[in-house]
Amino acid sequence: MAGIYIHIPFCKRACHYCDFHFSTSFQKKDEMIGIIVKEILLQTGYLEGQGIGTIYFGGGTPSAVPPSDIKMIIDTIGQKFNVSADVEITLETNPDDIRAEALMAWSEIGINRLSIGIQAFQEDLLKAWNRSHTSGQAKDAIALSQQAGFINITADLIYGGQGLTDEDWIQNVQTLIDSGIPHISSYALTVEKGTALAHQISVGKVKAPEDEQSNRQYSILQSMLKLNGFEQYEVSNFSKPGLESKHNMSYWSGAHYLGIGPSAHSFNGVSRQWNIANNIKYIHSLDEDIIPFEKEMLTDEQRYNEIVMTGLRTSHGIDMNRVKGIDVRFEKYLNDVIHDLKLEEKLFKNEFGNWTLKPEYYFFADGIAAELFYSPG
Ligand code: SF4
Repeated sequence: MAGIYIHIPFCKRACHYCDFHFSTSFQKKDEMIGIIVKEILLQTGYLEGQGIGTIYFGGGTPSAVPPSDIKMIIDTIGQKFNVSADVEITLETNPDDIRAEALMAWSEIGINRLSIGIQAFQEDLLKAWNRSHTSGQAKDAIALSQQAGFINITADLIYGGQGLTDEDWIQNVQTLIDSGIPHISSYALTVEKGTALAHQISVGKVKAPEDEQSNRQYSILQSMLKLNGFEQYEVSNFSKPGLESKHNMSYWSGAHYLGIGPSAHSFNGVSRQWNIANNIKYIHSLDEDIIPFEKEMLTDEQRYNEIVMTGLRTSHGIDMNRVKGIDVRFEKYLNDVIHDLKLEEKLFKNEFGNWTLKPEYYFFADGIAAELFYSPG
């Protein structure tokens, strides 16, 4: 099964740490939705008739546009693609957009998974990050979503941020556990170039996040969620059994996906492409029936590196069948490098025969993956 990602590039405010592609001006919103529909019509061949198992609305803030816009996009996909009867359709939302009427409308148009961007429950932190919602709105958003009948709900939390004490952190994780939602995603605060946060740090207004604090809070997160019946199926993702994000799982398992909208990425097994990250240029180009993207053909080495990178972040491990599928020399390379770098103590072979990172090393997954990347000679 393949997936479709739709990038809705509008946010009410710019969160200070965020470097995703979005605009805070909604002036071009109607034009953008029409053009996104047009791109879908132009891309009907990309997935070569594969069934669609997941549709994911990300951004930006998809909940900030009316449900009728989202419906138009879902209807277009339904008309042009072979969408599975049990398709997972996720909508990323911000708490201040979650109201009873919106929830009813989202449910009616087929949204069956909500991702709520909560990040923290401390008012001072939400303000410091320029989030558009309050802590009270975040709690209400979860309760309202549950009352509206949504079961498949995930929420995001950020750890390691300036001013987030361990007590605050424990309280944030506990609040989500107590809410009864079955899925939690959590990310370390990172300082991305060009963001307001990077500027605040450079002028000494804010302290840079420290690895030690992030690592400690990550361990707290892992143990609290494990104790409460969550399975860690990826470095940043925890779910009750059977309620993993199918969409994200498909990225990590090498499934093909089509990305629609400015800055969206697509992958078809042999190449990767990404649309221009500029709303005006994206609209103008599609006005002329041209999809503005750049493309990279993947070499065998790049495909191997990707399998290592994504696999090491999941509890499924590095899929050795996929590694061998590129070329058996990569299987030998991986086994040799693990042996030479004495990484056996951090990794184990799981029931599928896949090299898998021990959860206590998940915090260092990207660095360990880099050591396993292919480097000739
Ligand atoms: S709402 Fe999300 S996408 Fe928009 S600026 Fe904030 S973090 Fe970034």
